[in-house]
Amino acid sequence: MAKTDYYELLGVSREATEDELKKAYRKLAMKYHPDRNPGDKEAEAKFKDITEAYEVLKDGEKRAAYDRYGHAAFDPSAGGGGGAGGFGGGGFGGTPFDDIFEEMFGRFGGGRGGGGQRAASGRGSDLRQQVEITLEEAYSGTKKTIRVPSSVACEACTGTGAEGGKANVQTCPTCNGAGKVRAQQGFFLIERTCPTCNGQGRIIKNPCKVCAGSGRTQRDRTLNVTIPAGVEDGTRIRLSGEGEAGLRGAPAGDLYVDVAVKAHALFQRDGANIFVRVPLRMTQAALGGDVEVPLVDGGRARVTIPSGTQTGDQFRLRGKGFSVLRSHAKGDMYVQVAVETPQNLNAKQRELLEQFEAEAVKSGKSSPESEGFFAKVRDFWDGLGR
Ligand SMILES: [Zn+2]
Ligand SMILES: [Zn+2]
Repeated sequence: MAKTDYYELLGVSREATEDELKKAYRKLAMKYHPDRNPGDKEAEAKFKDITEAYEVLKDGEKRAAYDRYGHAAFDPSAGGGGGAGGFGGGGFGGTPFDDIFEEMFGRFGGGRGGGGQRAASGRGSDLRQQVEITLEEAYSGTKKTIRVPSSVACEACTGTGAEGGKANVQTCPTCNGAGKVRAQQGFFLIERTCPTCNGQGRIIKNPCKVCAGSGRTQRDRTLNVTIPAGVEDGTRIRLSGEGEAGLRGAPAGDLYVDVAVKAHALFQRDGANIFVRVPLRMTQAALGGDVEVPLVDGGRARVTIPSGTQTGDQFRLRGKGFSVLRSHAKGDMYVQVAVETPQNLNAKQRELLEQFEAEAVKSGKSSPESEGFFAKVRDFWDGLGR
């Protein structure tokens, strides 16, 4: 009875790395292990076969011999081939079972599984998309429609690339699905991409017209993303499973939406608090009065400015700031005052201000800061004896 090819047994290509071999063996061994299939003769036989295959292929020397002579390399009756000699017959006393299963069943011991198995292979890649919103939208929360360019499994051919679907995909007869062919040339084993299937390992006689045989189609998906009130510039929202489609039924990747909040002409933001800078006329600041200030929600608020307000003074409007994410708390709004010195005076204004200045000097009390400052300056000069 012809023995099955070792690579085929493990379901790996002839170029499989040591790691790939180990992974493949581990997966199959999990499935066919006698402990898991009590009394199942077929599973037991299969387990023996894959263990044998792995035993040979994990060993560089044995693998080279196998690649060259096939099963004959290990068959004593065939007399071995060249220097490879017969490795067979001796049985598999120290099977790879030992090292691999220690860690495997050690890890799975007791609980058996316990979820969290994330099939890394074939999982769709994560996608990133940026969405720009205004400060007002960040304040109230918003919904945005975003287009996600992505490739999805072609519907017409169910992702196989063949017209009519899976039934019309054939394994390449030249390379038996490996995608590569080997040829002996003198001492050298030449390997090249299979010319029949161009390395695909499969042949599609009638490629799907929709996807031109690729099995995937490019399609923009539109998604409605709810952006919560209070979102900050640079916030990243993760939409689980909305990334690139997975391969062969593997889970899709995630979509990360990066939120950028546009700068605003009036408001600056710091966390949940919002600042608005309000320039006041010098006389307004001196006399006091009400000013109307804008709110982020489009409304307005009256702020009473006491007489004698200075640049840098700020007035707090409680609860008029941003929502704090995942809470009912709200920040505050701060009205920051800047007093503006009048410019471009007309004759009348100049006259009035000159009168005002004369009165101010006479009273000596209306500008305590500058009066205090110049008093210190005088002391300074006096101290120097000038
Ligand atoms: Zn081929
Ligand atoms: Zn298709």
